[in-house]
Amino acid sequence: MRIDILTLLPKLLEGPFADSIMHRAQKAGLAEIHIHNIRDYSTANNKQADDYQFGGGAGMVMTIQPIADCIEKLKSERQYDEIIYLTPDGETLNQGLCNQWSMKENLLLLCGHYKGVDQRIRDKYITREVSIGDYVLSGGELAAAVIVDSVVRLIPGVLNDETSALSDSFQDHLLAPPVYTRPAEYDGMKIPDILLSGHFAKIEEWRFQESYQKTAQRRPDLLEKFNRKSDEQ
Ligand code: SAM
Repeated sequence: MRIDILTLLPKLLEGPFADSIMHRAQKAGLAEIHIHNIRDYSTANNKQADDYQFGGGAGMVMTIQPIADCIEKLKSERQYDEIIYLTPDGETLNQGLCNQWSMKENLLLLCGHYKGVDQRIRDKYITREVSIGDYVLSGGELAAAVIVDSVVRLIPGVLNDETSALSDSFQDHLLAPPVYTRPAEYDGMKIPDILLSGHFAKIEEWRFQESYQKTAQRRPDLLEKFNRKSDEQ
């Protein structure tokens, strides 16, 4: 998979993909992440990429020209499955979207800054508008990093044990069960006996019950989805 990220602040994206699973995925050739500085595409003498809002009001707006030129160049080189604008007024990111996107070939992510991008960029190029939650960040870079991380870890071959991602929260509309490692007793707290039983089917049943109860307590909205899906099957 190839992911192109358009940003005014490329430095903000140097860290998140340089270590651990994201680094391994790139090294193994399973994910290519390309960062583009929008300002490099500005034809203005001072490389300006923002301007005042029409109608007045506080805050600058990212201009059309450098973003459009960058997107046009990239689109002339390959076809994108989605061109995603990170924005608080978009649909909220969820595991279902991450699963879908992990099977795509080419994604383009556009990071906004200031008051965001000129609406005409959104109207002309954007196929999907995505928020990472109901709060406002200063820029789209951290949101882009969240999307890349949550999508790339799902690409087949990226995790050492692919079944691990399948038992994470949200995959079945359930939250993950508790996990334990050595020592089996810490400060008087013992791990549940069942986990030492060696009985795989019973351990799976215990994990399911823990997941189910946790989801019922913390996220009844998810449990409804889980129950609906179970009824359909
Ligand atoms: N004026 C915009 C609004 O109220 O919807 C907020 C602009 S915000 C200060 C600047 C940029 O940060 C946005 O263009 C977007 O790219 C990014 N951003 C902020 N919050 C975000 C969120 N919750 N999810 C995704 N991107 C976000």
